[in-house]
Amino acid sequence: MNIIVLGPQGSGKGTQGKQLAKKYYLPHISTGSMLRRYVAAGGTRAEEVRELMDSGELIDDLFLEEILEERLAQPDCKNGFVLDGTPRDLEQARMLDRFISVDYAFLIDISEEESLRRVAKRAEIEHREDDTPEALKKRLATYTEKTLPVLDYYERQGILYCIDGEQKVHEVFANIVSVLEETA
Ligand code: AMP
Repeated sequence: MNIIVLGPQGSGKGTQGKQLAKKYYLPHISTGSMLRRYVAAGGTRAEEVRELMDSGELIDDLFLEEILEERLAQPDCKNGFVLDGTPRDLEQARMLDRFISVDYAFLIDISEEESLRRVAKRAEIEHREDDTPEALKKRLATYTEKTLPVLDYYERQGILYCIDGEQKVHEVFANIVSVLEETA
């Protein structure tokens, strides 16, 4: 079962992704976390990747493909995975199709105002380097311009499921699980 969770900043896709992974014994793969680990470990391109992340820009597709293809080929992904943070644009969606098949794409949908509100709160609590107002604005603009077309792409394949992300965390989760159970 190959699952993708999509949604704007602060939509809770990380939280939902982790819970889903736990429930279905699948690895939770967050490209944002993978990239943060890469930077922390001081990889060859660490400085460049950190700067892009801090300013809310996307990392180039080739580099992403390299780390993701390797990760998804690991034995723990044999029965599936929950992918969080990719695809960010159509090119990445097509790239994924070259080495995996997506079974479910869940959109955790929240408004732009709610996204801004939640990330402002997260910035106070977690002090994430890339939660500055400028970087957030950039990430939201990128989401609107580049990630929204990805929704169409999955909709046309009949695998897009839109979930109201402004409900309580457990309600969002219950909605996702019921889609999985109804379509299994
Ligand atoms: P996230 O934790 O998903 O919000 O990702 C944090 C940052 O990591 C993003 O703002 C991008 O700079 C980078 N990133 C994560 N996933 C991707 C991706 N699929 N393509 C390009 N950059 C990404």
